[in-house]
Amino acid sequence: DLKGRKAVITGSTSGIGLAFAEALAKMGVDITLNGFGDKDEIEENRARIAGEYGVDVRYDGADMTKPEEIRSLISSAEAAHGRIDILVNNAGIQKVGPIDEYDDATWDRIIAICLNSNYHTIKAALPGMKSRGFGRIVNVASAHGLVASPFKSAYVAAKHGVVGLTKTVALEAGEDGVTCNAICPGFVKTPLLEAQMADNAKARGMTEEEVKAKLLSDAHATKEFVTYENLTALLCYLCSNAGSGSTGYPYAVDAGWTAH
Ligand code: NAD
Repeated sequence: DLKGRKAVITGSTSGIGLAFAEALAKMGVDITLNGFGDKDEIEENRARIAGEYGVDVRYDGADMTKPEEIRSLISSAEAAHGRIDILVNNAGIQKVGPIDEYDDATWDRIIAICLNSNYHTIKAALPGMKSRGFGRIVNVASAHGLVASPFKSAYVAAKHGVVGLTKTVALEAGEDGVTCNAICPGFVKTPLLEAQMADNAKARGMTEEEVKAKLLSDAHATKEFVTYENLTALLCYLCSNAGSGSTGYPYAVDAGWTAH
């Protein structure tokens, strides 16, 4: 029942967001891609997904630190596809470091991209969803939306904020057929995670290999990374008609991390 739905996915030029775009396109959903990256590579992905699944795939390069651009991302998607049924707030960045040495501008940037952008997209997209009596909002938080780790103060604060925002929107929009949930992944092998390894190793005085092994052995009961398929299956459920009974919940897909 996802066929013909229209989705906007922030931060979908890479990693989890790109996997989400592919998974929804496979179910017949028209997609607005967003995110940074190499122009040719973005166009290649856009054309490939559209061609492979026979859906309309458009790209909007809105910067998630800029509220004006976020509003325009939503309004131009509504204009191009007629409406937005599914909004996935996935854009995110990470920068690891002890709080007493943390860079103020980095703090602001992480809060802006990981938390504030969700507020701006939801505020802009919700009126249309409510008026049509259908909407699915999925915010990609993190296991760090539920528990903390050292050296990730901005990220952990933003992701806990996303979980709070998710619950509040669910309560406000429930009667209008709009659900709002968070997905809280454990460690997924994406460009974001790879980039983090070096910083984390430095902060902990370890090699990158040691950090990788420690992350999995400390956090994941399975000792394996979470996969894109682990996440896309949940996304498709939450966005389907059968997802109507689930709202306001931070769904952990964290290989047992938050069971500790
Ligand atoms: P990634 O770096 O592969 O992708 C991040 C995406 O966000 C990219 O498309 C990038 O261009 C986009 N982006 C960054 N800054 C932006 C901005 N200012 N405006 C618009 N787009 C911007 O990372 P990922 O690992 O796929 O992360 C996706 C989401 O999943 C993030 O919210 C992240 O916090 C979350 N997450 C990741 C993991 C993990 O282990 N990888 C775990 C839990 C949660």
